[in-house]
Amino acid sequence: MNIPQARRVCIDLHCHSRASDGTLTPAELVERAGARGVTHLALTDHDTIDGLPEAAGAASAAGVTMINGVELSCVWKSQTIHVVGLDFDVESTAFLQALAGQHDNRWRRARTIAERLERVCVPGLLELATAQAGGDVPGRPHFARALVESGVVKDQNQAFKRYLGAGKPGDVKAFWPEIDTVVGWITRAGGVAVLAHPRKYKMTATKLRSLVSDFRRSGGRGIEVSTSGQSSGDLGFLAELCRREGLLASQGSDFHFPGASWCELGVITPLPDGLSPVWHHFRQPVGQAGA
Ligand code: MN
Ligand code: MN
Ligand code: MN
Repeated sequence: MNIPQARRVCIDLHCHSRASDGTLTPAELVERAGARGVTHLALTDHDTIDGLPEAAGAASAAGVTMINGVELSCVWKSQTIHVVGLDFDVESTAFLQALAGQHDNRWRRARTIAERLERVCVPGLLELATAQAGGDVPGRPHFARALVESGVVKDQNQAFKRYLGAGKPGDVKAFWPEIDTVVGWITRAGGVAVLAHPRKYKMTATKLRSLVSDFRRSGGRGIEVSTSGQSSGDLGFLAELCRREGLLASQGSDFHFPGASWCELGVITPLPDGLSPVWHHFRQPVGQAGA
């Protein structure tokens, strides 16, 4: 008997380009995804959607359908948490303003680190660190390289030990908004808010359940159940959490650069049965019977 096969879909809803901390340009990323059989991709750079137009331009040639994406930084109980926004309206003025605010938050932190370190070591450090970041907002690794370059320390380890590590002058917490704020931004822009890589926060199961239920109460709709580098135990735990909280399930590689065997575009453990995939709830649902 000849059973018609549905077109096989391969969905990756979390990855990074050079628009944030990935190494590929958005176009290169989409080409790589297409070559690896990804049919639906969300580019989710940290706190920016600057890569989306270039990715969209490369999509049809690569045979990839793009879903609007971003990964927003925020805090919950003073811990940094990542929330992936999917399928939002990129034209939303309020959303674009919120993203501009996230960009300012990064610069405010960079300036604070620079001011504190300039007091104890070298002047002009912000410029040096910015150059290390290729003109973008420098983070602590860029400050570490700038300190090496200016001869203040012999290597990056020493830079962290003396100036940037926990309790040192350059140990400045990020100025991120609370989790309910970023969930609100995504939701009001018509998107779906997904809690990124829940196991990466190294929380106890009890604390993670508390985070997930706060996230859901603030309008969060999904969690990443399948992501790179998880054990099968993690997958089962997150699937159960997802079911229990009545959330949608998402999946993504969190790809940043080629060559890491544990993390490749489209290489994702399938979601366990009995979960409701987030992509069935996009404005243009993906992969459902007939779609
Ligand atoms: Mn990253
Ligand atoms: Mn993340
Ligand atoms: Mn990520």
